[in-house]
Amino acid sequence: MKKAIEKITPRPARPGMVGDGFRVYNFIPGANIPQQRISPFLMLDFNAEYDFGPSETLRGVDVHPHKGFETVTIAYKGSVAHHDSTGNSGIIHPGDVQWMTAGAGILHKEYHEQEFSKKGGPFEMVQLWVNLPKKDKSTPAHYQAINAAQMGKINLPGNAGTVEVIAGNFNGVQGPAATYSPVNLFNIKLKKEGSVDISIPAEHNAAILVVNGSVEVNGEKAPEHSFILFGNEGEEISVKAEQDAVLLVLSGQPINEPIASYGPFVMNTQEEIREAIMEFQSGKFGVLD
Ligand code: MN
Repeated sequence: MKKAIEKITPRPARPGMVGDGFRVYNFIPGANIPQQRISPFLMLDFNAEYDFGPSETLRGVDVHPHKGFETVTIAYKGSVAHHDSTGNSGIIHPGDVQWMTAGAGILHKEYHEQEFSKKGGPFEMVQLWVNLPKKDKSTPAHYQAINAAQMGKINLPGNAGTVEVIAGNFNGVQGPAATYSPVNLFNIKLKKEGSVDISIPAEHNAAILVVNGSVEVNGEKAPEHSFILFGNEGEEISVKAEQDAVLLVLSGQPINEPIASYGPFVMNTQEEIREAIMEFQSGKFGVLD
């Protein structure tokens, strides 16, 4: 049975800025998609392709905390550098994904990588926040640096394109990311007129971000930069590309627990949010210059 489309949200009229380095369209919760409705996903910011121009200063977001969930950064174009309070640092290049489990709490900063920043050029990125079940919210902070070569890869029949599996399973091919609840995250690259059939469990909350190109999804047209939210009936999704297209497919089994969310802290109760703020203020998340 075909999965029902609940709504297709076009790109908002105006982007918002995260720091001075990320020019983003917010779809979760911005497209009127509450966190509980799209659980386990909490937030999706899409920096549609944009050229910031060359810069000697590094654009980005300075030191800030996270606690109780995971941040997933998916780089399509341009490169992002990061440093965190556990002493880790790295660069997310095009095709790479950083899956950071903030868990018990972390400080980090994210900014354009130095060489990229000096040259300028197209920058295209997604940041997705994935909630943690209550039992895993105090897991020590850590991250998975997943490079392009590690992705599960499927060549679609008829030279229609490719599927890169970041997390979960597509037709038996497993993605490299370890997750705390069942999550699928696929990058699908279709050539013009190419098509793909995707099967997602009915109970998963599911959506597709049209990163590039325009497509037809279960018979409905979805323009470039739109966001397709599926209903929880049916399993089959058929996509046909009207032009070369890149799609980010996300689905997950809902975490049926209360969500208390305050900026970069996502817990189960307001009391836990107050504790998180106190921990942050008292320096429990470590030190980062
Ligand atoms: Mn962050």
